[in-house]
Amino acid sequence: MPRGNQNKKCNVMGKTIIISNRLPVKIEHNKNTLIYKSSEGGLATGLNSVFKRGDNLWIGWPGLAIEKAKESEVHSKLMEQHMKPVFLSNEEIEDFYEGFSNETLWPNFHYFNQYTVYKEENWLAYQRVNQKFAEIVAEELEDDDTVWIHDYQLLLLPQMIRIISPNSTIGFFLHIPFPSYESFRRLPWRRELLNGMLGSDFLGFHTYDDMRHFLSSVNRLAGLGNSNGTIKVQNRLIKADALPMGIDYEKYADSAQDRNTLAKEARYRESIGNVRLILSIDRLDYSKGIPQRLRAFELFLGKYPAFKEKVSLLMVVVPSRYSVSKYKQLKEEIDLLVGRINGQFSKLNWTPIHYFYRSFPLPALSAFYRISDVALVSPMRDGMNLVCKEYVASRLDRKGVLILSEMAGASKELSDAIIVNPHDVHQLVEAIYKALTLPVKLQIKSMTSMQKSLKRYNIHAWVKLFMDELENVKIEQSHLKTKLLDHQLSDEITYTYKQSEERLIFLDYDGTLVGFNENPNDSKPDHELKEILTLLTKNKKNHIVIISGRDRQSLEKWMKPFSLDIVAEHGVWIKRMGKPFKTFIKINSNWKKEIMSLLERYVNRTPGSFVEEKDHSLVWHYRKVETGLGEVRTRELTSHLKYMTANENLQVLEGDMIVEIKNSEINKGKAVQKLMKIYPKADFLLAFGDDFTDEDTFKALPEDSFTIKVGISASEAKFSVNSYREVRKLLSKITKN
Ligand code: UDP
Repeated sequence: MPRGNQNKKCNVMGKTIIISNRLPVKIEHNKNTLIYKSSEGGLATGLNSVFKRGDNLWIGWPGLAIEKAKESEVHSKLMEQHMKPVFLSNEEIEDFYEGFSNETLWPNFHYFNQYTVYKEENWLAYQRVNQKFAEIVAEELEDDDTVWIHDYQLLLLPQMIRIISPNSTIGFFLHIPFPSYESFRRLPWRRELLNGMLGSDFLGFHTYDDMRHFLSSVNRLAGLGNSNGTIKVQNRLIKADALPMGIDYEKYADSAQDRNTLAKEARYRESIGNVRLILSIDRLDYSKGIPQRLRAFELFLGKYPAFKEKVSLLMVVVPSRYSVSKYKQLKEEIDLLVGRINGQFSKLNWTPIHYFYRSFPLPALSAFYRISDVALVSPMRDGMNLVCKEYVASRLDRKGVLILSEMAGASKELSDAIIVNPHDVHQLVEAIYKALTLPVKLQIKSMTSMQKSLKRYNIHAWVKLFMDELENVKIEQSHLKTKLLDHQLSDEITYTYKQSEERLIFLDYDGTLVGFNENPNDSKPDHELKEILTLLTKNKKNHIVIISGRDRQSLEKWMKPFSLDIVAEHGVWIKRMGKPFKTFIKINSNWKKEIMSLLERYVNRTPGSFVEEKDHSLVWHYRKVETGLGEVRTRELTSHLKYMTANENLQVLEGDMIVEIKNSEINKGKAVQKLMKIYPKADFLLAFGDDFTDEDTFKALPEDSFTIKVGISASEAKFSVNSYREVRKLLSKITKN
């Protein structure tokens, strides 16, 4: 299943290695022996089908510090079950796991920055342990393997594996929220963390918000933009996407009708009596909003006294991270609140809150899901939240009401729930009231719709989707790679160049011969470029054409020393060697006045932007505008322009930090055709270009020409290079022969 379509060109043939902080196993000490129990978490169930096949493997920490003498026994026992342990010392557990992972990343990513601990030694331990994981992965990793890394404890691992094995297929999934840049930027190690993640080929997040927060940090901290989630990292293309994790729907639906569950439900009902129940299940964590929920329940009983003795809160809090002091405090706060509310409202035959500080196995949970009229899931922030999905899957009669926090990732999928802002205690109170009084018909309607969605997007669909997306990125990368100009190809071009009698070479200017500058006037040819142009133009067999979108004045000035032809303003003007510029097209530029005044309005509103006026086009530049604002203005401007230019013969083009408006009949392809007529005997044709305007050049040239795109993206060109530096390298190479 994870292999995707077997007919695809780039197929993943090797094994799959799953890596998470914890292995899906529970090891317990029983006197002097160790007992191994498989863990039943959703992730383990979903990935069961992947890692328990063939050579597939799961790598992770077995969950407790194992004494040295027992390591080899644990290792062989786990390897029998396709698991390879990463042993952590007590100190590593404290600094890497409890420290950096749970006291730095966890609060920061959940917007609890008042709890974030900034400790250099924890960061050092985090790096060391990620490196330890990388080394253990390296022992197993072969070239065509697929690696799937999970969660916030291993953010550095993708890049560490990439360094060891540059061509590996690496996927990463973040199970907690990715915070907004405003939170993430606080971390002193933000760049290193981000670079670690960028070692992946594909990155999955639960929600679109997490994905766009990640992309925004990538943009601001690594200076890399994206196109619909596709990012170019050096010469590698990677992708981020929103892929909400589902549950094993059938498991919960089946368990809800299991004999064991039904027996438990009957027992609970007998001891609780005939009251309606509101269910609350969480791990002990400040992100879950447990005290806020208790206060809301207290207020509810005060505001709607008719529900006293008729409704109870069934609250399960699963012990977690108790050694972290914030969690200890939280536990005390919850104990106090429960005591206060029960003390205040209890009757001999009614307990307002049934509170359990422990965890329950599935049959008990299923009975809780069945017996509760309402599930109150109100985290302050939660990556996904599985309890709410499990509650829905367990409601076989399709009755029951889910109250769900908008801060939980699941709220994006379960929009039929009663959605609440967990900070608004009054809204919570009203939501409880609404849930308890909702007509059965409406309960069934929303439950049916939520069940349909959860069935479809279950854990198996999620695993398959992730693996397919990862594979698709690799296919896309391989398409681009086959075009990348290598030694052999550049030798072939040089050889053909040498053999030819008359050569016609088209060179785009910005981004192709020089890098981009904040000010377009700073891009005049440097010493190296002048040398290359001198050598190229000195050779009598060569016709060199600079073919650019720039205005003719600067091109004429900069190219004065060289005997070459110039095409300016995307083909409006052609200047043959030693002659003045001429235009071959009749163009009407009356449109410019109106568009100019619109562009000026955008300049007034957007500090750092400016308008460049060419003879037959206008360009709005936003390279110096605040990151993000330029893109927002561009969206607005282009839709405005499209509306204004609908009846004119104008084209609106988006380039590298520019928006250009020009007559549609002007394009570089037409100028190329004209020049080919001027030099009909040319038997060697070569063209370089970096943006969409150069695509017209590539298209206009005959099949046997060498067309080379600067930058990695889809193009009509036959080959690609990474930057203008490689263009210069190739040009120097051919001129030396
Ligand atoms: N859970 C459990 N026993 C309990 C309480 C909860 O097995 O007594 C499980 C529950 O079924 C769910 C998971 O713990 O699958 C909690 O996942 P969730 O995403 O809701 O919260 P997390 O703890 O991962 O933040």
